[in-house]
Amino acid sequence: MLLPPRPLTSAFLVLMAICIPAFARENPTPNVVLIYGDDVGFGDVGAYGATLIPTPNIDKLASQGQRFTDGHCSASTCTPSRYSMLTGVQAFRNNIAILSPNAPLCIKPGTFTLASLFKAAGYQTAVIGKWHLGLGEKSRPTDWNASVSPGPLEIGFDYSFLLPSTNDRVPCVYLKNHSVVGLEQSDPLFVTHSPKAPAGFEGTIYPDGKKTPEAMTYYPSTHGHNNTVINGIGRIGYQWGGKSALWNDETMADVFVEEARSYIEAHKGSPFFLYFASQDIHVPRAPHPRFQGKTPLGKRGDAMVQLDWVVGEIMNSLEKAGIAENTIVIFSSDNGPVYDDGYADGTTVKGSSKEIDNGHDGSGIHRGGKYQIYEGGTRVPFIIRWPGRISSGTSPALVNQIDFLASFADLLGQTLPRGSGTDSRNTLAAFLGKDPIGLPDMIEESHESLALRRGHWKYIPASASKASALYNLESDPSEQSNISGEFPDVVASMDSQLENLKKHPRLADK
Ligand code: CA
Repeated sequence: MLLPPRPLTSAFLVLMAICIPAFARENPTPNVVLIYGDDVGFGDVGAYGATLIPTPNIDKLASQGQRFTDGHCSASTCTPSRYSMLTGVQAFRNNIAILSPNAPLCIKPGTFTLASLFKAAGYQTAVIGKWHLGLGEKSRPTDWNASVSPGPLEIGFDYSFLLPSTNDRVPCVYLKNHSVVGLEQSDPLFVTHSPKAPAGFEGTIYPDGKKTPEAMTYYPSTHGHNNTVINGIGRIGYQWGGKSALWNDETMADVFVEEARSYIEAHKGSPFFLYFASQDIHVPRAPHPRFQGKTPLGKRGDAMVQLDWVVGEIMNSLEKAGIAENTIVIFSSDNGPVYDDGYADGTTVKGSSKEIDNGHDGSGIHRGGKYQIYEGGTRVPFIIRWPGRISSGTSPALVNQIDFLASFADLLGQTLPRGSGTDSRNTLAAFLGKDPIGLPDMIEESHESLALRRGHWKYIPASASKASALYNLESDPSEQSNISGEFPDVVASMDSQLENLKKHPRLADK
């Protein structure tokens, strides 16, 4: 005779409830797709006020999830923001700046990253798109003809398909896991910092944009970006050989979308984390011809339309795989907008301010953009969609990508190893739309300086060329009135807090 199952004791149930976080109990393993735009400003998306760039797919994402109006990347340039988002550590602590071509991996192998976190929780992990965190070791130049390592696979990713640096830098090839895609043995690839060819490879030269500017047929450079000319576009750094493996700039979005489609289809049955880092709308902007002319804003606006198409295609892939409901989709950017960033691509009107592009302001009402310490540098589109778990709406909470690490750790019931993610704070409630305040304070990083946010206050310390500044973002969201003289106590307190945070990571908060 079968005995009825023994009822679980109440003590055991209590223990279960303590051990498994609430969110994990509800849904242990949502897939996570993080779509990262490049140089996409707060005002470049329709849902954030753009009127001259149609972005129906990103707008749809925003209408179905939380649209954050005070969401930030950690810095106003590429490499530092990406570094901080993956490691949960402020980039300035390790002097992380924009990397040159052939730079070694700037995240030490074995570092516990956002990818390691998902892996520890049983996920498959992948990065598709722009990397710009360096590849290879410090002690020897990267050999692109051999196994290119360490890279993403050494810091928590199971699969990678990369644009190795950025599209304005060499090498202009794709890297799949440890190998350059399509590279033939008879056509070896070298990257150098100087125009001197590696011994024996003098014949593999590309046009030098400095000596032969007429070779830059796609568009000329405006500053720099004129070393190796590939596909009619000047690049930073020198590439030799590897012609068999060259990418086509105008099909890059299609290539990445196809990679994402295949990855989603192959992994629909198991939880996965996909970090999809688009090259758009970073320079050189070279949207596919089918997107060219879609906006009155030239290639920058058209590249944004292409990125919106990419978002739509990724959503379609999730729908087709039947997993759109059980997937958290995040859309954000690595820094604010820039117009002329090295190429005469028709974006900047002669004589106009660099911050205004034909009546379109990529940072919306916010001041500044890429490289700068003002809000436009780090306040970016920030959307999180998770049907059934995150309600739709707009959140004013102060949130930052650097906090994905600690927040997803909470969601997944994981504990960060001691000493890792030392600047990452758990803001899961804000990300889920359940906390309208978010961070009490936050560092913003730029090319030259740091700033501190505390509620509606924004403090920028004095630099060699500028006096300190204090702005009240509630009454002055565009940072026009420096009121540091009226609030000396606030200035003193924020200055002291920033100095303290510079010296000590936030580990003590945990
Ligand atoms: Ca960027």
